Amino acid sequence: MLKHQIQLTKLVKTHLRYFGSSQSRTQSFKKWYQQLWTTERTNLPPYEHFTQVGDPVLRQVAAAVPLEHVKSPEIEAVIQQMVKVLRKFDCVGIAAPQIGVSLRIIAMEFKKDIKRDLPQATFEARKMSELPLTVLINPELTITNYTKHKHPEGCMSVRGFSAEVERYEGVKLTGLDKLGTRNELELSGWNARIAQHEMDHLDGKLYIDHMDRSTFMCTCWETVNTKSGRVEIPFYK
Ligand SMILES: [Zn+2]
Repeated sequence: MLKHQIQLTKLVKTHLRYFGSSQSRTQSFKKWYQQLWTTERTNLPPYEHFTQVGDPVLRQVAAAVPLEHVKSPEIEAVIQQMVKVLRKFDCVGIAAPQIGVSLRIIAMEFKKDIKRDLPQATFEARKMSELPLTVLINPELTITNYTKHKHPEGCMSVRGFSAEVERYEGVKLTGLDKLGTRNELELSGWNARIAQHEMDHLDGKLYIDHMDRSTFMCTCWETVNTKSGRVEIPFYK
């Protein structure tokens, strides 16, 4: 424990240097880091479930991962947990705040087999295509194609609902991978949408902030009627 405390003190000092005046960002990273050494852990982040709208962590501007910690075991653990949760819930994107960690990390993956569950016409209209697992630390997004498309979108942190949201056709994402290597990728169609959605999470934004409100719906509203309301939306898997 003493060793950890020394490491922590060193780390906090490094952060204060790194962030300078950006005290809130430092606080955010520090708070998360300190939790790792808490002896009385109950259920603390990184979670195995998705945080839900209302959780303050989803409304915070997430802190950048200090460069000297990109390859740390702690960040590696956060990434591992993000990928685990992403795959467990069969979704296509996740941002660290969604497992309760207010840091700028996103993971995206669009597997070919999602195609099986969707009509071909939907797949084509939404310009869906395979995207191998992509993890980016401190990502930055640039819009490369300003054409907008409106499609239904959901979010695991607004479980049980969806709405149509306008997103840009093309984006460029840059960021660090878990080895600290600078990555750059061009995305279009649905994958560009995933990227824009996940980047919003890092700035404390949710799709409900800019959805077409008239299309907002409970994804199981019909089942609610056919089953006389006996429907449950699980928050675990
Ligand atoms: Zn989301």
